[in-house]
Amino acid sequence: MSFLHFLIRFQPTDSADEPESLLYAGRAVARRLLLISTSTVFGTRYLEHAFSELREVLEGVRRVLFIPHALKDHAGYLAKARAAFEEIGFGLESLHEAKDPRRSVVEAEAIFCGGGNTFRLLNSLYTMDVLPLLRKRVAEGMPYTGASAGSNLACPTIRTTNDMPIVEPPSLAGLGLVSFQINPHYLDPLPGSTHMGETRETRIREFHEENDVPVVGLREGAILRVEGESVELRGRAGARIFRRGAEPVEATPVASIEALVG
Ligand code: ASP
Repeated sequence: MSFLHFLIRFQPTDSADEPESLLYAGRAVARRLLLISTSTVFGTRYLEHAFSELREVLEGVRRVLFIPHALKDHAGYLAKARAAFEEIGFGLESLHEAKDPRRSVVEAEAIFCGGGNTFRLLNSLYTMDVLPLLRKRVAEGMPYTGASAGSNLACPTIRTTNDMPIVEPPSLAGLGLVSFQINPHYLDPLPGSTHMGETRETRIREFHEENDVPVVGLREGAILRVEGESVELRGRAGARIFRRGAEPVEATPVASIEALVG
């Protein structure tokens, strides 16, 4: 299913859980996204493994609007993210400091949404009533970048997060910037493990018992670059792609995966 077909398929419904990717349904979508599995790859600094991808996707941008709401300590998170973005030549403002959050989304040049607890992140964005504005700005071409929870947020729903529902958002519907789900920090089962909890693959199979949306299990270090209709796997790790009723498929960077996730 192409992204435009996805938009057309998800017309407004009464279900609160249905994605609201509707503001721009039927119009050409100029999306430019960078969806990062994890902000920190073991042995490297915060976002370091994504620096060159961030530079590329944010070309022409001077200031980025940071969404720190997945973590409790917004000020501390801003300081950490700002140091990384300044190192690669971008200013960073934070949504938590905005007097008028809706206005700062309208005026943003680009977004970076940080990781943490996905339920808390989504709940905060519902409270600020900025989700429709974010969708609209992305459809107009504003770059959206996110790591981990920030990548979950770009999906139709947050049903494939690894997080605990520590708060209860009004809906599980995310931004719906892509037509597939992401499972960040994707983990392969450890051979010989005695752990009896569900593997990640089992959890995703359970998701497909109830839902028919492809899931990209993004291993740490993997990055998705989305440009218009194209979805490219980049970064330093691969992805395992799950579709309802089919065997999972492996992808290694660099690969075009839109045919697998559409
Ligand atoms: N807690 C993760 C993060 O943002 C999100 C996830 O694993 O679903 O780092």
